[in-house]
Amino acid sequence: MKLIIASNNKHKIYEIKKILGNSFDEILSLSEAGIAHETLEDGNTFMDNARKKAREIAELSGTAALADDSGICVNALGGEPGVYSARYAGEHGDDEANNRLLLERILPHSDKSAYYACAMALVYPDGREVLAEGYMHGTITHDVRGTRGFGYDPLFIPVGESRTVAEMTDEEKNAISHRARALSALLAKLEVK
Ligand code: IMP
Repeated sequence: MKLIIASNNKHKIYEIKKILGNSFDEILSLSEAGIAHETLEDGNTFMDNARKKAREIAELSGTAALADDSGICVNALGGEPGVYSARYAGEHGDDEANNRLLLERILPHSDKSAYYACAMALVYPDGREVLAEGYMHGTITHDVRGTRGFGYDPLFIPVGESRTVAEMTDEEKNAISHRARALSALLAKLEVK
């Protein structure tokens, strides 16, 4: 089966392709499929946004589409930034500004616990959908550490680790990440169909 990843985020596409390996005959990013489309992510939940992104691309392309919507939820901040993770500091995808703002907001709180959440939606051109979620729990550090990964990775230490995700290898991140967990739950659902 051919699959289009309904994302323009090169980090996510890289991680998803690496995790999926050869589970599909062909996996194309939006740009590889020649599709220039931005979904308006106006849902209240990660799953609302993931379903919307996958549905729009499946309809446009006539091919099965996989979309991920993800973010970080900080308990002391009532789940912020949540669905606003990519544009927490205002501009979409400004990781440095987002990290600075999160460090500033969490500073007065002693509870540094947080989790990454990922909603994954696979939508077929006929409208059928398969949905799954994955989580990675941990804490927020006091300052940025590491250069790997993306987004909030230099600030996030998974449970049981002393390093931030940005100090881990791709393989180490993919063994425990919210995205990997959501994808493996989704693949398990496909196998029983
Ligand atoms: P989306 O493209 O709307 O799903 O936004 C996801 C945003 O959440 C990213 O821009 C990051 O800020 C954050 N995020 C999601 N997954 C990760 C991850 O694996 N590492 C670091 N940040 C992430």
